[in-house]
Order: sequence, then structure tokens, then C-alpha cells
Amino acid sequence: MKRKLVFATNNAHKLDEIRAILGDEIEIASLADIGCHADIPETADTLEGNALQKARYVYEHYHCDCFADDTGLEVEALGGSPGVHTARYAYPDRHDPEANTRKLLDALKEKSSRRAQFRTVIALILNGEEHLFDGRVEGSIAPEKRGTEGFGYDPVFIPEDCGKTFAELGVEAKNRISHRARAVARLCEFLRH
Ligand code: IMP
Repeated sequence: MKRKLVFATNNAHKLDEIRAILGDEIEIASLADIGCHADIPETADTLEGNALQKARYVYEHYHCDCFADDTGLEVEALGGSPGVHTARYAYPDRHDPEANTRKLLDALKEKSSRRAQFRTVIALILNGEEHLFDGRVEGSIAPEKRGTEGFGYDPVFIPEDCGKTFAELGVEAKNRISHRARAVARLCEFLRH
């Protein structure tokens, strides 16, 4: 029988991405598919903590194999910020990608280094055992927004040796090298063995 895993998300883009990588090998269900409509808490102070918190919530309430992810943008000159606060960098109570990008560009105005990395952590709970996988892409923050594709901080993140922002590169090229794709690849490699 085909193995089934719940991905603790309802983000259609993330679900499509992992289903495309795994093909028919493993069935991936979303939170909606298992009837979970809760706002799962993400109150830890690390990416690892948040990913585990979400996966444990699903495991404890639905008793199924599952995984969850969390992503942060870590900027060297800002001591690793926004990090775990990436989604709500500008306003602690809401996700405003436009304001987040503006705040980041302002914070870097006087800084000499613009080095940064995106990092995704995936927490998997399989047969009751916890496993962590991470994926990262190093690069820098552009001086201003460039490009129209993607989402979030894509218009200001330039992956190393590329010269283009994620938003200029386009979704397909981005998904080949992105932090999330790399973390997902590690998860898939583990699941296949
Ligand atoms: P999440 O943990 O995947 O929800 O990501 C947290 C936040 O990081 C998102 O709300 C986005 O603002 C940002 N983010 C995550 N992945 C990307 C990406 O691939 N490009 C641009 N921004 C991203």
C-alpha cells in the first residue's frame, strides 16, 4: 500500500512542489484533507522549534505520520534577523510582505554587508520518531526590489553567483535551487531509503 504522509500546511504552492518531487511514491495529504482547520501555534523561538511544534500538533491530534516546515531569512548584518520572525517582521500581528521588504531595505541602508541566507527546516514524525532536515541558499539582499515573480522577499533576495533576484529568476529556476527545494530533497531522500 502507498505510504501516506500529512504535510502540516494548506499552502497549495508548497503541496504542489512536494508532490511534483515525490511523484506517485508517497501520498501527501494537506491539513484540510484530514479535516484540520485549526490555527496551529508557532510560538517557538527557532525555526526547528516551530517546525517541530507544528508536526507534534498534527501527530498528537491525528495520530498520523506527518511533517511541517518553517522558513527564515537570516541577514548577517542584522545578527541573523528577521530569522524566526521573517513572516511578521514589520508587524508582529500580521503578515505584510510589502512592509516586510521595505523594513528590510531600510534596516540595511547604512550597512556595509548585505549577505543573507534563506533557511528552511522540515520536521518529520514517522512511526513516532522525530527527524529534522534543513536546506539553505546563501546570497545577498539587493539595494532595491527587482522582478515580478514569486512571493515574500523574492524581489530583494539574490542567490549567490546569480546576479538576479529570485523574482527575476522565475519560479521554475528558483525552485531548482531554493532553500525549500533543498530541504524537501533531503526529506525525500530519507523517505526513499
Ligand atoms: P514559511 O515558514 O514558509 O511560512 O515562511 C515564512 C516567511 O518567509 C514567509 O511568510 C515569507 O515572507 C518568507 N519566505 C519563505 N520562503 C520564501 C521564499 O521562497 N521567497 C521569499 N520569501 C519567502
